[in-house]
Amino acid sequence: MGDIVLVLVLNAGSSSLKFNLFDMNKETVIAEGMAERIGLAEANLACTIEGDKRKEALALPTHREALEAILERLRATVLHDTPIHAVGHRVVHGGPKYGDSVLVTEEVLRDIETFSMYAPLHNPANAMGIRSAMEAFPNVPHVAVFDTAFHHNMPDYARIYGIPYELSQKYGIRRYGFHGTSHAYVAARTAILLCRPLRALKIVTCHIGNGTSICAVDGGKSVETSMGMTPLQGVIMGTRSGSIDASVVEMLMEYEHLDQKAVTELLNKKSGLLGISGVSSDFREIELAADQGNDRARLARDLLTYSVRKFIGSYATVLDGVDAITFTAGIGTHSVYVRDKVCSKLSFLGVKLDPEANQHGTGERIISTPDSRVVVTVVPTNEELMIARETVR
Ligand code: AMP
Repeated sequence: MGDIVLVLVLNAGSSSLKFNLFDMNKETVIAEGMAERIGLAEANLACTIEGDKRKEALALPTHREALEAILERLRATVLHDTPIHAVGHRVVHGGPKYGDSVLVTEEVLRDIETFSMYAPLHNPANAMGIRSAMEAFPNVPHVAVFDTAFHHNMPDYARIYGIPYELSQKYGIRRYGFHGTSHAYVAARTAILLCRPLRALKIVTCHIGNGTSICAVDGGKSVETSMGMTPLQGVIMGTRSGSIDASVVEMLMEYEHLDQKAVTELLNKKSGLLGISGVSSDFREIELAADQGNDRARLARDLLTYSVRKFIGSYATVLDGVDAITFTAGIGTHSVYVRDKVCSKLSFLGVKLDPEANQHGTGERIISTPDSRVVVTVVPTNEELMIARETVR
């Protein structure tokens, strides 16, 4: 394979392992895929290698076996004996400590495990994925890239909760924000689309997917974002409630006889678009049901667009003006309806959507009219590429 720089990007979930193999000279993906149902019955591995898509059933008791199966496929097809130069890992929570990507050491791994207190659904799996990969690739650098890092320098007044200050300090209870690699990527691409330097722009980035967060990006830096200490806060999401009054937790515990674990599960897995619509967490199914007259699906859809719009309005104040609004992630990139609804009541900001561009274009593009005071863009996100770039850096 010549003198190419190969970076493997891994994203480990509790029962899944996503991978992308990058040629970083050209910034192209050579192979990608995902092992699913790790540790469960009917596990499988799906790979797309040089355009060839395959899915097979395999026994995958742990992440270690999943990684070995991935490597076997890569070695049999594209890698052969070519070594991988580095491995980049997506890590959800960097806690109060990590404001940048970091080379993984034993201390870093222990920190990631400790920060499971803030991200119990994500960090344990991330750490497990790193440990497996370090066993499989003991002699290459491993880099942890944190979802929280981009927001690390938000001002204190933007991230502190109104609880006793000593408790915030003692436990690190404050807002951290997530989807950092995505917000950073789409903000940078938006500056390129506008042919203006990022440092001179005020951008509101809207990552609307299964998980949703909005970010105020001032001169390339995150100054405010909608998620909190965990990814539960902010806009309503596929299965997460978004922001609610904390007293709701107590009430559910008392009247529904739920313990703390069950309430956490309810708010993270059974709420949001799924909980309100009763239809699905998948926005395509919600749109379909709403178009067919399902009132609860309509309510879920309205709640999402209303909530995103409210955040954009408030971030216009945070930034003291907006140059661009960017839509990304599954819903932000694909839903014509959501972009139209969100932008429909932003005319006070000078937003004028171009219905044709909103409806018909694909990929990275401007979807506002030439005389719109705020430029609206669609930028498909690429978190994996950002992780690979961070790993090289
Ligand atoms: P993500 O988490 O970024 O993968 O986004 C997943 C969400 O995007 C799901 O709710 C999907 O239903 C939604 N989505 C994907 N494609 C479309 C589409 N063409 N139109 C509307 N929503 C979509």
